[in-house]
Amino acid sequence: MIIISHKSHNIYRKNISQNALKVLHRLNKLGYEAYLVGGSVRDLLLGKHPKDYDITTNATPEQLRKLFRNCRLIGRRFRLTHIIFGHEIIEVATFRGHHIFNKAQKKTDKNTSQYSKNGMLLRDNIFGTIEDDAHRRDITINSLYYSITDCTIRDYVGGLQDLKQGVIRLIGEPEMRYREDPVRMLRVVRFAAKLNMHIAPETAQPIPYLAILLNNIPPARLFEEFLKLFHNGYGYRTYLMLRKYKLFQLLFPTLTHYFTNENGTPIDKMVIHVLKQADEHNNNDIILNTACLFAAMFWYPQIELTEQIIKKQNILYYDAFLMAINNTLSEASKKIAIPKKIITFIKDIWNLQLRIACIHGKYAWKLMKHPKFHAAYNLLYSRAIIENNSQLLYLAKWWQNFQIATIHQQKIMLKDISSDSTIIRSENIYCLSNNYNNSILI
Ligand code: ATP
Ligand code: MG
Repeated sequence: MIIISHKSHNIYRKNISQNALKVLHRLNKLGYEAYLVGGSVRDLLLGKHPKDYDITTNATPEQLRKLFRNCRLIGRRFRLTHIIFGHEIIEVATFRGHHIFNKAQKKTDKNTSQYSKNGMLLRDNIFGTIEDDAHRRDITINSLYYSITDCTIRDYVGGLQDLKQGVIRLIGEPEMRYREDPVRMLRVVRFAAKLNMHIAPETAQPIPYLAILLNNIPPARLFEEFLKLFHNGYGYRTYLMLRKYKLFQLLFPTLTHYFTNENGTPIDKMVIHVLKQADEHNNNDIILNTACLFAAMFWYPQIELTEQIIKKQNILYYDAFLMAINNTLSEASKKIAIPKKIITFIKDIWNLQLRIACIHGKYAWKLMKHPKFHAAYNLLYSRAIIENNSQLLYLAKWWQNFQIATIHQQKIMLKDISSDSTIIRSENIYCLSNNYNNSILI
């Protein structure tokens, strides 16, 4: 173990959340060990602002519950304590210990660890010392402990050197650690992309052939990971690494089915386009961002399915499109559980693709007031760019101008389109004529 004195590192109390300091002080004052750990120590050492603060202690969840009135116990697999200060949540975990796999263990005992047949850790609630805890964490740079009593940093696994050299290294024997929790493969890639670091060869090597283990992870947990992977301003870089390590196909089998080596299909291009766009316009509205991302990524599979349904059932484009929506989204949700609220949002964006493509007199104003109009317009624009389709581009530009025009100009634009027959294409529903009579507008 290495102890780094306060003179030899750059973490200062003034940069740490006041609420995290309160929790640490309180625990120390009552005689418990307590340290800042994980992402916050890593990010402070890198001179970045931590996203959140994790604390680890030798106080048990029950003891924590008695000490902090503003706390709630969460998790089954890993029991954790959330201490709530308004909008800020400080996550406190009791030191994890090593677990001995014992077949005679009672499955119902909450305080033991439990494995599945294929080595996956179903529950990890054995408590131990700080040193045990350090070896139970995922990667070395996430296993540094900062103490506010003497302002030192403790490093049990070589995290400081890896941080200096920009190395993502799994703690322990990689294959076993991935089998225990396959999500660690996603975490390794995420931190490498986020911090622009490289993955140690022994950490990287097993990933492509163990990627399949992600199939054992509940889709709800993968949705949580999806948010962390793609909503942090480095989604495109993460995507490239996920593809390199054969993880992307496990998360999005429907999309990769259409991928080519040359990234030449509209699906390839759309995924790249929309991830780059999300990185640039990363805003705080998670529901909006996620719905836009899914709506764009799954747009072409949705169109493909619509066309297949038409061929099979010989029904109207609009009816086939609606039928396809449910199938496309339930297929996507098999791997990543998309919450209902986001599903509704995606459906709105897709339905609006048909409506936005038909500019129909006064209806244009009504459409523009639709709460999802902007998201739908963005997808229309992306499609136009990706397909390099002059008709779609014409439509997208028309809407772009219409949105910024004065009422007077808008009236002229609408008058003009009644005589404009530049675009009429009934099956894929592009039209720009007031005379276009399409039941979907009613
Ligand atoms: P972020 O900046 O994304 O919050 P983080 O490192 O704080 O990064 P968290 O998901 O908040 O990540 O987890 C906190 C800490 O818990 C990690 O730093 C790591 O030490 C430990 N941890 C999280 N997930 C795992 C896992 N699957 N296996 C082992 N340790 C984990
Ligand atoms: Mg964290």
